[in-house]
Amino acid sequence: MFNEAIEMVKKSNLIYVSAHINPDGDAIGSTFAVYFALKKLGKDVHVVMPSYSEVFEFLPGVEDRVDGIKEDKYDLLIALDSSDHSRLAISDDEYERAEKVIMLDHHQIARPYGDFRYINDNKSSASEIAYLFIKELGVEFDSNIATLLYTGIMTDTGSFNYSNTSSDTLRVTAELVDYGAKTVEVCKKLNDTIKESKLKLLAKSIDNMEVFYDGKVRYTYVDYPTINSLGIHDEDAEGMTNYLRSVEGTEVAVYVRGKSDGSLKVSMRSNGNVDISKIAISFGGGGHPRAAGYTMQDEIEVGKEKLIKAIGEML
Ligand code: 5GP
Ligand code: MN
Repeated sequence: MFNEAIEMVKKSNLIYVSAHINPDGDAIGSTFAVYFALKKLGKDVHVVMPSYSEVFEFLPGVEDRVDGIKEDKYDLLIALDSSDHSRLAISDDEYERAEKVIMLDHHQIARPYGDFRYINDNKSSASEIAYLFIKELGVEFDSNIATLLYTGIMTDTGSFNYSNTSSDTLRVTAELVDYGAKTVEVCKKLNDTIKESKLKLLAKSIDNMEVFYDGKVRYTYVDYPTINSLGIHDEDAEGMTNYLRSVEGTEVAVYVRGKSDGSLKVSMRSNGNVDISKIAISFGGGGHPRAAGYTMQDEIEVGKEKLIKAIGEML
C-alpha cells in the first residue's frame, strides 16, 4: 500500500513531520507516533506543530515539538491529517524546503498535494492510517507509539461511538492495546477531566444558546472578551458543540467563538441527516459530514444569518 512512500523514507535522513493547524488529538497522535517510528529507524526527525490544548501535554514526545523548521533543506516532509496544503501548520516557504512530500489523510474532501498521497475516508482517523504506515515501515510498536495512535483514534471516533468506527478500526485498536497503549490514562485525561474555566465556558455557551427550526438547529456564540476573561486560550476554547448536539431533536449544532486574532471560528456537528461538510465548504472551510468548520468572513450577525439560512435549506 505504501511501497513508494517507504522508499522515500528509506532514502531520507532529515525528515520533518507536521499536521493541520489547530491540532487535535488525531493530528497530535498521528504526528508524534510517526516521529517516534522514524526515530527508531535512525532518522533525524523534527516535528513542526503550533501550540495546542494543554490537555494533550501528558502525551509522550510532545515536548519535542518545534514551532517552525530550522534547516534550509529537508529530504522529506510527512504531512498527516491535513486535507489541504493550506491547512498545514507550516508556511509555503517551509513546505518548499522539503525535497519530497508524503500526504496521509482521511478527509472526504481533500485537495491532494505532495509526491505520494494516501487518502482514505473509510479510515476513522489519520492515526489509523499512521498505524498501517508504521507497520509497513517495519518498525516495532512500543507503548509510546501505541498510546499516541490510540489517542488519535479515540478522539476522532468520539471514543469509538461515531459511524467512522469500523471493525478494522477496532482491530487496530485491539492491537494497540496489546502494544501497551495507556487506555485508562488517555480516557481519564481527555474524557473525564475538565478545567473549571472550561465548565464556566460551557455555562456561557448554554446561556447564549439560540434555537431555530423547531429545535433542529442549536446555535451559540461566545465572544473573545468572554473567553479571555475566563483565562482560556484559543486552543482550549473548543469542544462546546457536542453538548448542543446532544440535546434531543437537534440535527445540527453550531458553536462560534471569537479568537485572539479577531477572527470567528465556526464549529459544527450534525446528527447525520445533514452533510455539514458541504455547508462548511460553501463558506470556505471543510471537514466531515458530521463534523465540519470554517472561519467566518462576515461580522457575527451577518455571518450567523447566512449560516442559519444555509442549514435551513438542507434540513
Ligand atoms: P472542529 O469543530 O473540531 O474545530 O472541526 C471539525 C472538523 O472540521 C475538523 O476535523 C476539520 O476537518 C474540519 N474543519 C474545521 N475548521 C476547518 C477549516 O477552517 N477549514 C477546513 N478545511 N476544515 C475545517
Ligand atoms: Mn483526523
